Amino acid sequence: MILQVTVTKYLPTNVYFYVDEESKHGFIIDPGAEADKLKKVAEERGFVMEKILLTHGHFDHIAAVNELQEAWGAEVYMQEKGKIYAENPAWNLSDQLGKDIILHDVNYLPDNAVITLKDKPDFRLQLRHVPGHTSDGCIYYSEQDGVAFVGDCVFRESYGRTDLPGGDEETLLSKITERILTLPKETVLLSAHSEETTVEHEMKMPWYAGRLK
Ligand SMILES: [Zn+2]
Repeated sequence: MILQVTVTKYLPTNVYFYVDEESKHGFIIDPGAEADKLKKVAEERGFVMEKILLTHGHFDHIAAVNELQEAWGAEVYMQEKGKIYAENPAWNLSDQLGKDIILHDVNYLPDNAVITLKDKPDFRLQLRHVPGHTSDGCIYYSEQDGVAFVGDCVFRESYGRTDLPGGDEETLLSKITERILTLPKETVLLSAHSEETTVEHEMKMPWYAGRLK
């Protein structure tokens, strides 16, 4: 099951709980603020959060990580280029908040890594590296559920900004085309700052014209 919770302390960010219905164990994606609210959601529903997955290292996706990591004993995962964002407030942009955020205990994963529950390897997500909004940008794809958590790569009828450290527009558009728009057309794309969309819908956007095969 997928539960979306919007946190609003900074920018409104969609946080996703991706949880196995049977065992109630699961992952949280992009806990960007309001750790207390997220802890309460998990507690009320009996969720056991094994892993914290980050689509990239901007403050509005990571600000609740340290507190949740400690509360849940969960492991934190990012794409392997994420270290500079995890450890440098000028890159994760928390230096602009007046409260530096640094993540100390992160597992870095290569492209195509598969993330599973400890006791249920069938419950899994695939990391797909989609740089361009940031150099560590990635999505987490569930083939089984036909859904992808796409962070700030894709928004409904839009895409992430590319003027921040590590960003590059040409890279983003070509990687979205290669790594997201090649997924099955009906795949639902769950983004961090917009309503959901689908591969099929986004393929119609003019900025991908000429890139699609
Ligand atoms: Zn971002």
